[in-house]
Amino acid sequence: MNPSFITDAQNTWCLGCGNFALQHAIKDVIFGLIKDGTPRESIVLVAGIGCHGKIADYLNISTFYSLHGRAIAVATGIKLANPDLTVICSVGDGDTYAEGLAHLIFAAKRNIDITVIVHNNRVYGLTKGQYTPTSPGKYHGKSTPRGISDDPPFNPVEILLCSGCGFIARGYTRRQEELTGLIHDAIVHRGFSVVDTLQICASFLDMTDMYNERVYVPDGHNPEDFAAACMIAREWDYDSDGPIALGTIYRKNIPTYESRFRVPQKSDVEKARSVDKIMRERS
Ligand code: SF4
Repeated sequence: MNPSFITDAQNTWCLGCGNFALQHAIKDVIFGLIKDGTPRESIVLVAGIGCHGKIADYLNISTFYSLHGRAIAVATGIKLANPDLTVICSVGDGDTYAEGLAHLIFAAKRNIDITVIVHNNRVYGLTKGQYTPTSPGKYHGKSTPRGISDDPPFNPVEILLCSGCGFIARGYTRRQEELTGLIHDAIVHRGFSVVDTLQICASFLDMTDMYNERVYVPDGHNPEDFAAACMIAREWDYDSDGPIALGTIYRKNIPTYESRFRVPQKSDVEKARSVDKIMRERS
């Protein structure tokens, strides 16, 4: 709602891009957290590389533009250095499910208390439409003019369940209200949380009709039931015509990594001295 959370930077996302829905959902959640007492300066958003990454320029909060596939590693470092921060990662599917996959799995295994929002448009949009690990098998892109039927997508929800992830949700950029709720629940969850968001890429892979026909919110699903979560995860393998469940798929409270492994914290004076020392050495 609050316009001051959107920067004046010129927005270069294509018209109809799902990144707008994600930007506004994240902004609304952050606005709500701040209203409820979280200091604005204690919220950090780390972005990966891809169309989604421009969110670091477009949101008026503390942001960090990381390297391709490395947003989760950077966010982990930020959280360990200062566990009081609320750390959110905006990442792409080509970014985190390809180059950054090991970081995703190990962050889930460790249960570091950060939130990963995957802008899963299932295509490399910024570089004009190459296929990613979640592109549909029949996708005809610039690098795959005959489709990619020999290399079907993997199912990130199943991977996360197998990796020990304590909070997994699936959102859709054309269901804004639900998406905002899921992002909020993921951020307030204590531990590693992921919102795999089916995002429309209006220019290279517009799956609006397909998603609109198949998405649903399961009635009576208990997200604390691991077996039920596995069943929902397997209903749709990111390639089949199966029903696509939205909402919180799995949730479990597990001790966080930073509660088990704390980096010795420095006082404000010690921190200031360390910064001075680094600045002196570099000048
Ligand atoms: S190429 Fe696709 S993902 Fe990138 S800005 Fe355009 S619509 Fe969005």
